[in-house]
Amino acid sequence: MAKYVLVADYTLMTDFRNVPLATFFSCIPTDFAVSRLVFRIIANPPKLDAQGRPIRVPYGLRKIEAGLVQAVGREEVVVADPRDARRFISDDTEVVGVHSMDALGLGPVSMSFTIGGVLTPYTKAKFFELMGQLNHRPDRKYKIVLGGPASWQFDYRAEVQQQLGIDHIVHGECDHISAEIFDRVARGDAAPVMRFPNARAPTIDKIPKILGATMHSMNEVMRGCGRGCEFCEVTLRRPRYFPLDYIADEIAANTRAGDTSIQLHSDDVFLYKLENWRTMEPNEDAVKELFQFVMDRPGVTHCYPTHGTVSAAVTNPGMIEDISAIVGARPDKWIGIQCGIETGSPSLSKAVLHRKAAPFGAEEWPDIVIQGTEILNRNHWFPAYTLILGLPGETPEDAWMTVDLIDRMEQIPNNHFVTAPLTFVPIGALRGEEFYNLDQMVDEARFNVIYRAWRHILVEIDVDLWRMTRLPAPVRALIVATGRLGGRYILSLMQKYARERGFRIRPVAKTERQAEGHTISFPTA
Ligand code: SF4
Repeated sequence: MAKYVLVADYTLMTDFRNVPLATFFSCIPTDFAVSRLVFRIIANPPKLDAQGRPIRVPYGLRKIEAGLVQAVGREEVVVADPRDARRFISDDTEVVGVHSMDALGLGPVSMSFTIGGVLTPYTKAKFFELMGQLNHRPDRKYKIVLGGPASWQFDYRAEVQQQLGIDHIVHGECDHISAEIFDRVARGDAAPVMRFPNARAPTIDKIPKILGATMHSMNEVMRGCGRGCEFCEVTLRRPRYFPLDYIADEIAANTRAGDTSIQLHSDDVFLYKLENWRTMEPNEDAVKELFQFVMDRPGVTHCYPTHGTVSAAVTNPGMIEDISAIVGARPDKWIGIQCGIETGSPSLSKAVLHRKAAPFGAEEWPDIVIQGTEILNRNHWFPAYTLILGLPGETPEDAWMTVDLIDRMEQIPNNHFVTAPLTFVPIGALRGEEFYNLDQMVDEARFNVIYRAWRHILVEIDVDLWRMTRLPAPVRALIVATGRLGGRYILSLMQKYARERGFRIRPVAKTERQAEGHTISFPTA
């Protein structure tokens, strides 16, 4: 049995049936029968190999695995099925490494979906369930070490580390020194909290390559950003780009498992091999070469980025068009991308988003979002936008400008997008500021941002979910029906909440789709 066991909670090990954007369902509350039903249908169990080990594993955990295997050998490292993690632990096990994304439910999506933590998201529930399993023996000899993007959450809830029996928490990039960390933990020579500052982040040549398939066939192409948004941790990291041969080797780990659609992870793919830091205009040749290179890999039929910034579409519309041609995007095959809008207020954009609109001025941000969405949609890109409620300094007038922006976006001909309203969490340069507590701080303007965002999500579910979901017809029908009913249920709950709080729901302008005769019925306020 293995010396080192690695695991992540169930929400990180289900592929959510590969339904577009369904990973957001990991943040829905566990408190309602309808949300439990939705989760049970959509969050399918991890697929296992002949030995009962998960075939696809979160990318970050694969990196830790690679570093450990290099040091102690394949036989001494195993990734466990989170439903039955105890089965993988033996008397020989010295360290259990836990990868976490939103362990305590404090992430912006969970905080938004759970009314500021009043309810319990699946991310937190499943993490606690896993920790219960790992602590099943009070006399356990092995140590538990936690890392991943959720480590910061324990800075705000320090007492929970001990309550959950977590011996060590690691902050920062450490995939290059995972073996050293595990060895120190095993020898009892590690601090309860270990912090690795960005200045010690590894260069690319030090980062081990993954050895197995990743969840959603994720492959990393760069780290860091540089646009300088104040609420963002990523921008504090030095940008680094993975070379094409490195990317090819990692893609092969996914194609060997039969995966054909590759997700290219970055924080802004349009900054790949950026040269002009003054204007932030993409290195168009490098970005296009990246997509072409990925599409040329044996076994790859599709690829899409995780994140990008909409301003790149405005500066380089030809690049967007060319990437669409490279990937083979068409009306029934869209390229998904997550982008941040955050606010529709020019002055707040100037105060917080800094170079997100570059090379344009930050005050031009709402217009850039409109133009960029139109360009992306025209080329069969489907942006999933985030909005942030309660950024420091945000006024109700700023929030109404965000509502106005959604209105304008809905007037774009043939528009396709979703907007996810998130609550502000104090990370990045704003660490130490106050959380935006939705339960206590929501007002009419912020409520309308949330309502309008959800209402548009329901439009997209009605119009696009069937078309964009690639599953056998009966499963697809079940998921689409669940989405439509669940979406209407959420909207009716929001309307009830507005009535109770005395909030007025601002009438929605007639949308471009309705003008075309495509009318969608919603519950009425
Ligand atoms: S553009 Fe995105 S990744 Fe870059 S600093 Fe802003 S929020 Fe962070």
